[in-house]
Amino acid sequence: MQENIKKILVVGGGTAGWMTAAALSKIIDKRFCAIQLIESDDIGSVGVGEATIPIIQMFNKLLDLDEDEFVRKTQGTFKLGIEFVNWTNIGQKYIHAFGEVGKDMEAVQFYHYWLKMAQLGKAEDLRQYSIAGVAAEQGKFMRPFDAGNSPLSNIAYAFHFDAGLYARFLKEFATTRGVQRTEGKIAATDVDSSTGFIKSVRMESGETVEADFFIDCSGFRGLLIEEALHTGYEDWSHWLPCDRAWAVPCENTSDPTPYTRSTAHSAGWQWRIPLQHRVGNGHVFSSKFMSEDEARSILLNNLDGKPLAEPRLLKFVTGKRKKIWNKNCLAIGLSSGFMEPLESTSIHLIQSSIGRLMSFFPNKSFDQADIDEFNRQADFEVEKIRDFLILHYHATERNDSEFWNYCRTMSIPPELKQKIEQFQKNGRIFRNSNEMFSDLSWLEVMYGQGIRPRGYHPLVDRMPEEEIMKRLDSVRRVIDKSVDYMPTHAQFIAENCKAEKVY
Ligand SMILES: Cc1cc2nc3c(=O)[nH]c(=O)nc-3n(C[C@H](O)[C@H](O)[C@H](O)COP(=O)(O)OP(=O)(O)OC[C@H]3O[C@@H](n4cnc5c(N)ncnc54)[C@H](O)[C@@H]3O)c2cc1C
Repeated sequence: MQENIKKILVVGGGTAGWMTAAALSKIIDKRFCAIQLIESDDIGSVGVGEATIPIIQMFNKLLDLDEDEFVRKTQGTFKLGIEFVNWTNIGQKYIHAFGEVGKDMEAVQFYHYWLKMAQLGKAEDLRQYSIAGVAAEQGKFMRPFDAGNSPLSNIAYAFHFDAGLYARFLKEFATTRGVQRTEGKIAATDVDSSTGFIKSVRMESGETVEADFFIDCSGFRGLLIEEALHTGYEDWSHWLPCDRAWAVPCENTSDPTPYTRSTAHSAGWQWRIPLQHRVGNGHVFSSKFMSEDEARSILLNNLDGKPLAEPRLLKFVTGKRKKIWNKNCLAIGLSSGFMEPLESTSIHLIQSSIGRLMSFFPNKSFDQADIDEFNRQADFEVEKIRDFLILHYHATERNDSEFWNYCRTMSIPPELKQKIEQFQKNGRIFRNSNEMFSDLSWLEVMYGQGIRPRGYHPLVDRMPEEEIMKRLDSVRRVIDKSVDYMPTHAQFIAENCKAEKVY
């Protein structure tokens, strides 16, 4: 008879801990398996992580959340993509917009037709063929609805939210479904010397908390996965050299934009995340190329409005834990590794670890083959995201600082090199298995970063140029008309999910 897990201990109450506890509480009946979460108010959480990608809607569906209530309670706004400013060269910008670009024609992807016309100098900017791109530019937003073939049926979006309020929202969700919350500091971890499995954690208060399965959501330090189990860390900072971020909220001075902005500076970049009650900002930079003081003053000089707090410095090493599941401990969130927030992927990685955990949910024997497969899948996912992030730094024309010279000329992972070369040759982009970013995301960023293919799909030439132009123009007209129909982002929020005013 197999012996089931009777007790799960989640260590940490940041975004990772509460997302995990909320999802487990929804799926697992507490009579079957008890769930406890320990967090320390003294230590607190990282308090950043406010931009997401569309797949978070699946997480909300899993929890059966009312989306309007969720947005209201987290001072949230909607996100249609990320605008990248000064990444290719100073003064240039592009958008990585969510969702579809154009409409595929006669079994060939739309973007190949667009590529041909762009090479002939006849096509508009790529953003003009994406409903999310045009809506973002015009500050419009609405949720998709059943509008037949119209692009209004297909608006992909994500959220911006206040990280502290999000954790509070999920805490309420999880604790009302039976998750036991314990406040206090863990002082030590007891590991069984014969098996290497974690037996319990000891609180500063002297209390011992036992469990069968431990989920380490303790943040960068990896209290269980690293400090207790010494799992090891793979460092990727030679490819992603930023290792610090100053973060500061500031006053809103205008209606919130329905997109995140990422502005490149001379040794990193700055995020701008508009919420209902404030704007979240941060300057991610490399301490090898810029001092902390200089990075701080660049951030403060580039805010929309008055700062609402003192800037906070966060330090990190880009990379991943060698095994995110080790023995009876699974690391979720920052304890599993970290890649900078350039494409808002960390919260997604929390979500996907939770989803993967559901597929590989263990019993007390902790089958090693299952754990190995879990780790293999997790590694694959994170390495593909890593390559996508490296692309932003490497494919640049900037030569105005040591930092950009380093990034532009550094050697890159072979698979990424091959992907870029393939695109340069004939415009083809292959999605590797179920890697997270779609071919359209790769297209928008590769093209946006200045990579220009020499060719396009040969079957495009079956269609006369005038016919292609007619169809491209028609796509644009339909998108423009659809965006005309949409309310502004501010109107949409006011009518559906206005949060309480914060003074
Ligand atoms: C600069 C920056 C910007 C980011 N921006 C984004 C973004 O835009 N989008 C995105 O998806 N992600 C972003 N992230 C990542 C995101 O913030 C994290 O993935 C997310 O917040 C999860 O953090 P966490 O819960 O793993 O860790 P934390 O928030 O650090 O939580 C750790 C928890 O463990 C507890 N703990 C630690 N030690 C002990 C102990 N000894 N005893 C008891 N409790 C303990 C703490 O009290 C806390 O509750 C960003 C990260 C950084 C650093």
